[in-house]
Amino acid sequence: MQAKILFLDIETAPSLGWVWAKWETNVIDFKQDWYILSYAYKWAGEDKVTTVGLPDFGAYNRNKEDDRQLTKSLRKLLDEADVVIAHNGDGFDLPKINTRMLTHKLAPPSPYKTVDTLKIARKTFKFDSNKLDDLGRYLGIGRKLPHTGFHLWKNCMDGKPEAWKMMKEYNGHDVELLEKVYYIMRPWTGNTHPNVNQFSANLACPKCGNEQVQRRGYSYTQLSRKQRFQCTGPKGCGTWYEGSAKKV
Ligand SMILES: [Zn+2]
Repeated sequence: MQAKILFLDIETAPSLGWVWAKWETNVIDFKQDWYILSYAYKWAGEDKVTTVGLPDFGAYNRNKEDDRQLTKSLRKLLDEADVVIAHNGDGFDLPKINTRMLTHKLAPPSPYKTVDTLKIARKTFKFDSNKLDDLGRYLGIGRKLPHTGFHLWKNCMDGKPEAWKMMKEYNGHDVELLEKVYYIMRPWTGNTHPNVNQFSANLACPKCGNEQVQRRGYSYTQLSRKQRFQCTGPKGCGTWYEGSAKKV
C-alpha cells in the first residue's frame, strides 16, 4: 500500500493594522488579523488540481474574512494525507493552517509526514534564490504566473470576482510547479524523505515505490554492512538507499 501524497499551497491575507509612520514602524494595533484566502492541492498520481477560495463557502456572503469553513476543509484534506509536500510548508503553510485550526478550536488532523522543497533547495543546492518561481526558471520547468502584486490580494479581500478567478489560477499553477520541482529534487532528498511504502516489507524504493531496483554495492559502518540500492528502470526516480543485508 502506498502513502497518499498531497501537494499543497495556501494563500493568506495580510494582517491589517494601524501605524503612525511609514518606515521602520511599529503596528499600534491590529484591525484585522490574517486569515487564509485560498488553497490549491493535488494528489500525487492524479491529474486534477483543485483550488478552493473563501467565496466557495456560504459564510462569504455574510463575512468575507471568515475562513472557518475553509479551514475545516483543509483539515479534512490533511487528515486524508500521509505525506504533505509544500514549498516552505514546514515554515509557512502548515504552521499557518495549524494556527487557523487552533483559532477555530478544531482538533488536529491525523499525523502526516512532510516534504519541504524549500528545505531541500537550501540544504542540498546553492541556487541564487530558492523561491519557487526562480527554481522553476533554473530548472527550465516553468515560472509562476505573473500577477499584479498586492493589488491582486487587495482586490480579493474587497470581494472582486475577477481577482478571485486570477487568485485561483495563480494558486493552482503554483501547485503544478511545486509538483514538478519536487519530482526533479526527489532523488536528492537523502534519508529525510518519508517512506511511501506503507506496510510493505519488500525492498521497493522508499521514495517512489518502484520495485525495479538494483543492488549497487554496500555501505559500511564500523559495526555493520548494508546493501545499497538504486531505484532504476523507466519508472525509477534515481534514489540511492540502503536496505538490510539480511533481507537480500
Ligand atoms: Zn524511486
